[in-house]
Amino acid sequence: MADTAFHQPGKPGYILTMGEILVEIMATERGQSFREPGTLIGPYASGAPAIFIDQVAKVGSPCAMIGCVGDDDFGVLNVERLRVDGVNVSGISVIKTATTGSAFVTYREDGDRDFIYNIANSASGHLSVGNIRDDLLRQCSHFHVMGSSLFSFRIIEAMKKVIETVKGHGGTVSFDPNIRKEMLRIPEMREALDFILDYTDVFLPSGHEVMLLASASSERGAIEEILKRGVREIVIKRGKDGCSYYDGSAEHDLPALRVDEIDPTGAGDCFGGTYIACRAQGFAIERALTYACAAGARAVTQRGPMEGTATLAELDDFISHASEQSHG
Ligand code: ATP
Ligand code: MG
Repeated sequence: MADTAFHQPGKPGYILTMGEILVEIMATERGQSFREPGTLIGPYASGAPAIFIDQVAKVGSPCAMIGCVGDDDFGVLNVERLRVDGVNVSGISVIKTATTGSAFVTYREDGDRDFIYNIANSASGHLSVGNIRDDLLRQCSHFHVMGSSLFSFRIIEAMKKVIETVKGHGGTVSFDPNIRKEMLRIPEMREALDFILDYTDVFLPSGHEVMLLASASSERGAIEEILKRGVREIVIKRGKDGCSYYDGSAEHDLPALRVDEIDPTGAGDCFGGTYIACRAQGFAIERALTYACAAGARAVTQRGPMEGTATLAELDDFISHASEQSHG
């Protein structure tokens, strides 16, 4: 049965994620460099898992996040933003001795981004098994893993614990690798990604990431290999080229909506949050994909990583305007 990855009769629960919470501060001009002073804008709420879960909340699914912030205004900005948007923030710890994570971003002329991160040495780097609240785990029916969060062995250990517990009580797991190739050269990282993939029900890679976790030499071969491992749904994100869905029996290709890209940060996270929340609410695959594509397209039209998160009503509105434009 293709449509069963989210079937949990009588067991509606939280969608949970865990990982880095940070502020993002961005250069205002394309081509600007951090080797000399320039104009910056921010702080904006950010962190890939935080953007994901904010989008889940906007789609209206009960959800929670486990993470760490410092005792500072960057932390307040993030936690308040998530709370106001409907995320249960009781699993976010305030670390008195650390500062909230940050990322500074410049944009090249071609739109590519360069980042200076302070995450591993920030409050987010303190995240460990000790931060996992048992009550959140018990109520969790779906856990989302962001590969970008796997930056310390303590976090990998914590991820494994949550995954095993959630799967142990009949929950499901989604995984967005969000990974840099260099990370795969660390043997323990490869092992951690393999572990996670073995428990994954819904896999949400970017186009180039499909091949990274399979031995096959073609995308098609990699998809088959990953489905054989027990993954039930694969949704490949293809930026301006939309997305593709595979589950072994059905396949769907959806084009992207045509938009002017202002800031690509957060598109994949908004896409993933929308897809997972829609599927958890029982939406059919194609309807969930349509909303997910709209969420990704809408995200790139907004400056700021989390500023593009949107409710289903906002996405309906966005879809109808986008289709008007393509017909006009
Ligand atoms: P990241 O590089 O930040 O990790 P990602 O690879 O996870 O991003 P993308 O493929 O860039 O995710 O974007 C997710 C989805 O958002 C795409 O599948 C597409 O539907 C939509 N999207 C992204 N960029 C655009 C764009 N420029 N125009 C229209 N839709 C877009
Ligand atoms: Mg991504």
